[in-house]
Amino acid sequence: KPQIVWLRRDLRIEDQAALRAAAEAGPVIPVFVLDDETPGERRLGSASRWWLHGSLQELGDALNARGSRLILRRGSAAQVVSLLADEVGAGAIHTIRHYEPWWVKAEQDIAKRVDLVLHDGNYLLPPGCVVTGAGTPYRIFTPFYRAAMAHMPPPAPTSAPHFHAPARWPASDRLDDWKLRPTRPDWATGFVEVWTPGEAGATERLKDFLDVAAEYETTRNLPSQEGSSRLSPHLHWGEISPATVWHALDGRQGKGSESFRSELFWRDFAQNVITQFPDYPDRSFRPEFEKFRWRDPAKDENAKADLKAWRQGRTGYPIVDAGMRQLWRTGWMHNRVRMIAASFLIKHLLIDWRSGERWFWDTLVDADYGNNATNWQWVSGSGVDAALFTRIMAPLTQSAKFDAAEYIREWVPELADLTDEDIHDPPNRPRGYPDQLIGHREARERALSGYRAMKAS
Ligand code: FAD
Repeated sequence: KPQIVWLRRDLRIEDQAALRAAAEAGPVIPVFVLDDETPGERRLGSASRWWLHGSLQELGDALNARGSRLILRRGSAAQVVSLLADEVGAGAIHTIRHYEPWWVKAEQDIAKRVDLVLHDGNYLLPPGCVVTGAGTPYRIFTPFYRAAMAHMPPPAPTSAPHFHAPARWPASDRLDDWKLRPTRPDWATGFVEVWTPGEAGATERLKDFLDVAAEYETTRNLPSQEGSSRLSPHLHWGEISPATVWHALDGRQGKGSESFRSELFWRDFAQNVITQFPDYPDRSFRPEFEKFRWRDPAKDENAKADLKAWRQGRTGYPIVDAGMRQLWRTGWMHNRVRMIAASFLIKHLLIDWRSGERWFWDTLVDADYGNNATNWQWVSGSGVDAALFTRIMAPLTQSAKFDAAEYIREWVPELADLTDEDIHDPPNRPRGYPDQLIGHREARERALSGYRAMKAS
């Protein structure tokens, strides 16, 4: 009997447990369902849709080259997949387990109707399998990481399976008809210069990173250098498995790969968080933050203008503006700058972290339900880890400390002629570059007093 492989954020052929198991059981029908209903408000953002188009195109070509196909359907995934199983008389549906709450629910719904086989492999360890001595899941990264490391290395990655085609292929949508990429205006021209979505692009990216991985510990924090892997969208879409990345680094001992592996575990940690708290991206974990008197862009014109300036990279803080413009142009932002820009929105502009999380959700090619919220709540100090609200980042100091001059020149061309010394905080604003929305000291005092008021209320 034909075996359906229901693909979601696991768009690869190698080390793909669902594909492999299906191929061992019979002819394989790989299917991807574009589902804008089930995730509700969490339907894919614009940058994610851009990425998905490229990734599906590449996967479709790769499957064709192996005598298989990628079937595309649209609608509520649970319904579409179950109906497809009836249509083709499927023996089973195989899929890699996903942890976004709407996918957990969809998996349960499908399992009620047909034989659904769930596989692991998108994370180093399945969330929930690392628990404390008391049998509860971890809420703090460091003990989680220590316990998880005891299970490493992950199993060696498996190669692509051999596919048998079914006697008849079911009908498929045409990818172009989904219109996942923008046409007019095409805001994604900058994306094309930076990214190659798909498994081959991911493999290439990993290869490039291996050349510089030994220096990762220091260079990862320097936005002017390409010191990090830039694998995040590939990992998010499952175009490469974390086990593959892990094993590629194996044998390269030293601080670089050690610290890289711990970053990979942040990704696992975030899934571990949303598994415990499925609405984590929509609610401050610490309930007192619900009482924080944020400046509300829906009600306050000044806050609305500030939020817009932040999104457009026109805050008057060069490092923040460079990051926000890099995000808009390429769908990605350097991690150090993400922290600075997020902290600026929350603490300098006193705008609820959820406004920022939503903007990132729409604009990041690596927008991830778990990673995005875990990091936003980490910066705001409202999350599972230590309460860090009062640790207010000084954007100008950070910019100088992490040597962001070249980075600013690239993304804020109005400032390109300034010296390394002046560029972090231009003494005279070149024409067209805005004044600071608020001074650092004033912002700091306003934020701390807001925090004290929340604590007292
Ligand atoms: P590398 O430094 O090369 O790290 C390797 C991989 O480890 C990354 O590709 C990623 O999968 C994982 N990783 C690294 N750092 C983190 C982290 N802090 N949290 C979780 N996983 C991590 N990352 C996302 O993948 N999606 C998001 O939506 C996202 N939103 C963020 C929002 C904010 C406010 C902040 C501060 C960080 C966010 N991050 C997010 C985490 C981090 O910035 C990116 O994963 C990283 O910049 C990606 O670049 P890289 O692939 O070169 O990372």
